[in-house]
Amino acid sequence: MTATRRGFVKRAGAGVLGAVLAPSLARAQAAAVSAGSLYDVAVVGAGAFGAWIAYHLKRAGCHVALLDAYGAGNARSSSGGQSRVIRMGYGDQEIYTRWSMRSLELWKSLFSEAEQPSLFQRAGVLWMARGEDPLTTQTLVTLQRLGVRHERLGRSELEGRWPQIDFGPNNWAIYEPESGFLMAFRAVQAVVQTATDMGVEYVRESVIPPAGEGRLRSVATGSGRKVLADKVVFACGPWLPKLFPELLGERIFPTRQEVFYFGPAPGDERFRSPAMPVWVDFAEQIYGLPDVEARGFKVAPDRHGEAIDPDSAERVITPATLASVRDFVARRFPALKNAPLVASEVCQYENTSNGDFLVDRHPGFENVWLAGGGSGHGFKHGPALGEYVAARIVQGGPVDMRFSLATKEKVQKRTVY
Ligand SMILES: Cc1cc2nc3c(=O)[nH]c(=O)nc-3n(C[C@H](O)[C@H](O)[C@H](O)COP(=O)(O)OP(=O)(O)OC[C@H]3O[C@@H](n4cnc5c(N)ncnc54)[C@H](O)[C@@H]3O)c2cc1C
Repeated sequence: MTATRRGFVKRAGAGVLGAVLAPSLARAQAAAVSAGSLYDVAVVGAGAFGAWIAYHLKRAGCHVALLDAYGAGNARSSSGGQSRVIRMGYGDQEIYTRWSMRSLELWKSLFSEAEQPSLFQRAGVLWMARGEDPLTTQTLVTLQRLGVRHERLGRSELEGRWPQIDFGPNNWAIYEPESGFLMAFRAVQAVVQTATDMGVEYVRESVIPPAGEGRLRSVATGSGRKVLADKVVFACGPWLPKLFPELLGERIFPTRQEVFYFGPAPGDERFRSPAMPVWVDFAEQIYGLPDVEARGFKVAPDRHGEAIDPDSAERVITPATLASVRDFVARRFPALKNAPLVASEVCQYENTSNGDFLVDRHPGFENVWLAGGGSGHGFKHGPALGEYVAARIVQGGPVDMRFSLATKEKVQKRTVY
């Protein structure tokens, strides 16, 4: 790839620096605005996907611009929550187990480089199961085949190890001791910080949906700048259907997802790591994380919520979901029956029809790529997805059929969890 290093072509006044960013990130952003250039690749969207795509492109030697409308890890974005689970178990969907394994390696390595190792916490992940549950049974086979450390625990072992959990009808579980959770929005900011330290030029600017077809020579921003780039990647998560309504309006379904944090009693360590792992009660479509940084014990339904607009949605939980989550908490974690709700988040999944990611070329623009469709499980995979997308852009080669636009249907039939 060739690149003349000139920077953003400035059409209007200077951009507003990102309030959510660390000061050094804001400084890097200011430098980007005045630097100038034809970029090899402009990446639009600095969530878990876009940040890692930009990072890997830079590592591959590209001159990269990274733009985000609201700032990396912002509260509206799907990557903007406090924490995200990283687990290896994916039933028989081996590619996601492999990507999780690769991603955990890359997350840890980046956090170590950024001197923020606590952005990953090895709390362990406990996947509860009932009877012959096929997904958990298949997970066991995949973990064994790929050599992922895990334990298969029966009911009495579960009760002995985690007496604070009433397992109800769950009679066995898989425990992954090396897995855990990522401190989500700060992890994304650490990736962007590392990428800018390497030379990625990052700016907080909204990109206007491109019009026409053929070759996209530049993207225009809300403030009137024009960013010239040989290739453009749109990694805009739940905004993809708004940017490309004809193409993706009916193929990516952003749904409203509520997250609840309950406050354990003072001195009660049973709901913090290491006493409490990340847990999934698959049959009840609910999961949670230990209390971290005293923000509360996290509980989140995994059922798809109502349709949501990521720009304008009010991020307030609903009494009905709170009541159903409370009912679950009282059954599964009896000591938290009367624990107060101390915090909450409303986020969104950007679901594809079956939960497989979207990585493909835009059919109308020969040099434009689309990356998204995280579908409620994408965060952990940012590093591997970024590596995959960067390799396709730099080296060429086909994309896996399961990630292609052609497989993204207009009816939701979830098969990836
Ligand atoms: C409640 C909840 C819990 C989840 N739990 C997990 C979990 O435990 N484990 C897991 O692996 N995954 C989980 N996920 C899924 C995961 O968080 C997402 O799949 C992932 O964060 C998607 O990242 P993204 O980069 O595609 O999108 P986003 O993080 O939304 O990033 C897109 C970015 O694009 C920017 N953008 C949009 N439009 C424009 C524009 N026009 N110009 C410039 N920038 C633009 C936005 O500002 C945003 O920052 C969860 C999601 C939610 C909502």
